[in-house]
Amino acid sequence: MSKLSVGKVQVYTGNGKGKTTASLGLVLRAAGAGMQIYFGQFMKKGNTSEIRALRDFLSGAVTVEQYGSGAELSGPDRERDTACARAGYEKAREALTSGKYDLVVLDEILVAEHLGLLAVDDLLRLMDQRPEHTELVLTGRWAAEQVCQQADLVTEMGEVKHYFHAGLPARTGIEM
Ligand code: ATP
Ligand code: MG
Repeated sequence: MSKLSVGKVQVYTGNGKGKTTASLGLVLRAAGAGMQIYFGQFMKKGNTSEIRALRDFLSGAVTVEQYGSGAELSGPDRERDTACARAGYEKAREALTSGKYDLVVLDEILVAEHLGLLAVDDLLRLMDQRPEHTELVLTGRWAAEQVCQQADLVTEMGEVKHYFHAGLPARTGIEM
């Protein structure tokens, strides 16, 4: 039985920090409400702290899948990255349309589209195929205009200041 009377499409985008962490906050809240959650992550691979926490502490509520080769941002390889993103897209679509999940988060999918690994039409089609009672969250910088237009909620994290520019790389437990 679905938990949500109505599901919506949410987009978290912008250059400021907080897109992935906001989606994880929603995962936590939904888990507390007894919801079933699918968290799919594009562009990334490996045991970041959030993936470990979802697998170790929330496995009863959350199904986690990573679709990245792990090298998309450091050493792009067009053919490999496109194949990974496409395979991920199919898994995400299956999870979404299965109706098994109350909340589906597709982290960094907007970046995959921006880089041309997925087409904007793929994202629009995904949004169209969302079951009525499933909440769909798309995250990542550079959300396409058409995606924002079709979404029900768009939050733009604006960067006012970020220590990244002062030379502080991502820290375990805070950024990864
Ligand atoms: P978080 O996961 O902390 O919520 P986010 O999802 O909003 O962040 P992303 O765009 O997914 O942000 O990735 C931020 C990561 O990229 C950080 O680890 C940061 O160190 C790095 N980074 C690279 N360039 C920038 C930049 N211009 N501003 C902020 N972070 C940057
Ligand atoms: Mg992110």
